[in-house]
Amino acid sequence: MTPSYNQRRILLKETSLRGGEIVLEKLPENLKELESLAYNLWWSWSRPAQRLWRMIDSEKWEEHRNPVKILREVSKERLEELSKDEDFIALYELTLERFTDYMEREDTWFNVNYPEWDEKIVYMCMEYGLTKALPIYSGGLGILAGDHLKSASDLGLPLIAVGLLYKHGYFTQQIDSDGRQIEIFPEYDIEELPMKPLRDEDGNQVIVEVPIDNDTVKARVFEVQVGRVKLYLLDTDFEENEDRFRKICDYLYNPEPDVRVSQEILLGIGGMKLLKTLKIKPGVIHLNEGHPAFSSLERIKSYMEEGYSFTEALEIVRQTTVFTTHTPVPAGHDRFPFDFVEKKLTKFFEGFESKELLMNLGKDEDGNFNMTYLALRTSSFINGVSKLHADVSRRMFKNVWKGVPVEEIPIEGITNGVHMGTWINREMRKLFDRYLGRVWREHTDLEGIWYGVDRIPDEELWEAHLNAKKRFIDYIRESIKRRNERLGINEPLPEISENVLIIGFARRFATYKRAVLLFSDLERLKRIVNNSERPVYIVYAGKAHPRDEGGKEFLRRIYEVSQMPDFKNKIIVLENYDIGMARLMVSGVDVWLNNPRRPMEASGTSGMKAAANGVLNASVYDGWWVEGYNGRNGWVIGDESVLPETEADDPKDAEALYELLENEIIPTYYENREKWIFMMKESIKSVAPKFSTTRMLKEYTEKFYIKGLVNREWLERRENVEKIGAWKERILKNWENVSIERIVLEDSKSVEVTVKLGDLTPNDVIVELVAGRGEGMEDLEVWKVIHIRRYRKENDLFVYTYTNGVLGHLGSPGWFYAVRVIPYHPRLPIKFLPEVPVVWKKVL
Ligand SMILES: *Cc1c(COP(=O)(O)O)cnc(C)c1O
Repeated sequence: MTPSYNQRRILLKETSLRGGEIVLEKLPENLKELESLAYNLWWSWSRPAQRLWRMIDSEKWEEHRNPVKILREVSKERLEELSKDEDFIALYELTLERFTDYMEREDTWFNVNYPEWDEKIVYMCMEYGLTKALPIYSGGLGILAGDHLKSASDLGLPLIAVGLLYKHGYFTQQIDSDGRQIEIFPEYDIEELPMKPLRDEDGNQVIVEVPIDNDTVKARVFEVQVGRVKLYLLDTDFEENEDRFRKICDYLYNPEPDVRVSQEILLGIGGMKLLKTLKIKPGVIHLNEGHPAFSSLERIKSYMEEGYSFTEALEIVRQTTVFTTHTPVPAGHDRFPFDFVEKKLTKFFEGFESKELLMNLGKDEDGNFNMTYLALRTSSFINGVSKLHADVSRRMFKNVWKGVPVEEIPIEGITNGVHMGTWINREMRKLFDRYLGRVWREHTDLEGIWYGVDRIPDEELWEAHLNAKKRFIDYIRESIKRRNERLGINEPLPEISENVLIIGFARRFATYKRAVLLFSDLERLKRIVNNSERPVYIVYAGKAHPRDEGGKEFLRRIYEVSQMPDFKNKIIVLENYDIGMARLMVSGVDVWLNNPRRPMEASGTSGMKAAANGVLNASVYDGWWVEGYNGRNGWVIGDESVLPETEADDPKDAEALYELLENEIIPTYYENREKWIFMMKESIKSVAPKFSTTRMLKEYTEKFYIKGLVNREWLERRENVEKIGAWKERILKNWENVSIERIVLEDSKSVEVTVKLGDLTPNDVIVELVAGRGEGMEDLEVWKVIHIRRYRKENDLFVYTYTNGVLGHLGSPGWFYAVRVIPYHPRLPIKFLPEVPVVWKKVL
């Protein structure tokens, strides 16, 4: 399956020299701009552009959705013919006009609101799901990153992105006749991918050198244009590297630790080297998941080589780094043996004296090197991807901040969103254009605009929905047909009516997502799907990670059930879930089913895509649905609690799901269409603005990016860095001498706290009274935090007094009062520093 390196070498040598140039040569004079349209992924959310490509070659378009491939393969004659076709020219000109407007407009949201900032926000991620034609993603994380770039472009953010190119992408999934997953690693012809070699002034492809093991690995750079945003992809698979380094870029998430760490070094350290090569001085670095966190080490080391101390360098990096964590699943957090990482970084640390200080930033409780910890300790702006997930993450990572109540751990929630321009299907877009006005495209996050959905006549909405269903049904049949042909299966294709209720379940087959929950009572399920008056189809799709045997077993089981006579053509399994299928599926079913074990689904985004298309969510109360559900826009499976679930809760959730289907979903669909359409409208209105990446990007900008840029500017001046560095050194040196000597309760309204500060002064710290319910500091449910400002000096000590306050509940059972001392500097973006444990003492 994997081609030999020799074979590939020949192909690649040519490629690195030519990229998109061949395409240009054959374009007729009046169609020259097709080239820039093909190489900018803007087409992936532009309807006219998509129609244009379809007009050139509809078959290839439907199959590959790749304008570059179309342009490379279309004949000169066909192009000549099109250059004289009036309809085509009109569409071409319309598309070009929209494209030029889009690319050149200056009054973007960012420019209007933050005209003074143009430093780059550098977004880093292991995978990007932008389009089917660029298969460098595996699932939700990648899709989110892709949508992030598209919205950053829409809003005019000065953002660039860095990622890796994988020769075989992730994998293409086939399902054999026993329901086993077959993983195919297709070899992509990189000339066909929608990207170009990044060239320097002399026309040579840019190459960066990355230290891995004891060697210097070369990475060549490609550039993907996503609207206004550039995504740079690093690739080691070319002739200048030894085979063992070429295979770093074989495929995404190589589970072999040696390759995996190399990939992360390439992304993190290589990414920073690339910025240097391009002379880009980053304003803010956004680590999307822990994978790119080595970038923090590279930045710290690089500042130290410029003469900054470790403390200063860490401060600069931390104050300008954003970190988004994405999953509560432990396996989603990369950890490696400490020595092993040290060895992988041999060349990186060569001749560098402070190796230990840097390495310790990644050390976890078990002595492993933990990418998430490295990211947490080198970022000031940290978030989980929903409110609930932020809460779960604070608990997961509380050890990084000592003596801090869980709820004060500095991890915020910025809930994910989706790029509505990509995910809302064509029928709905047309309706929205008509009844909301085209403003919904640009001001997607304005809730008021979406009230226009109420103006859409029910019949029109229903018809648009049926059309989307029909398109998905065609896709299902086509997909089954292809598989049958491949496997030599000779049986009629299912007849699927768009008037039958279709439930969709598509996601990675990770076991916590419980894809088989509905199968716990097959007799009951049989009655549900085979009711002659109210039949139901259930369509499943998803990939299992190649090493996830549990996930594969789920897939096998679903396939097995789908082949039982009672379920044949009622339960349908589709192969190879990808962006292309997802776009059809999230709009082409009636109900989107999501039943993970709580709280493992950090956010989930497919349900947002479905909801914005009027597809109703039936979901466990987890992830984004905790914020999205409003009682009218879909259903909750089970109870509206956020308590963690175990395997023991599966039967209870299965029962709740059956009841929901039997008593609510199916009867409403067949007997109360009016209510169903009302719910569809509720779903669109409530979800499209709030769970768009437009809202999400604005939140990242306002809460994180701008603050990081402000810090960056302040730290630009050496004397400022020195000032805060000196302060921090003082804190670190003296902190062990800080203690709370005595707490005296005067009466129920006043407290006197005697604090020893050693060589520190009251300006260096804040003293607080913390009150709440709980047994100790870390599990405290904080009720009040009171800053005690007044103090007097008594010999070497400081006596802080809090008078005439109200110390409610003090002394009551279950209540906890403490005084704490925290280091304080006005330029610190976070209240609690990982390296400075909070000093605290219980009152009473
Ligand atoms: C949206 C999407 C995902 C993520 O969906 P979840 O709800 O997080 O499971 C995964 N894969 C594809 C192809 C998608 O389009």
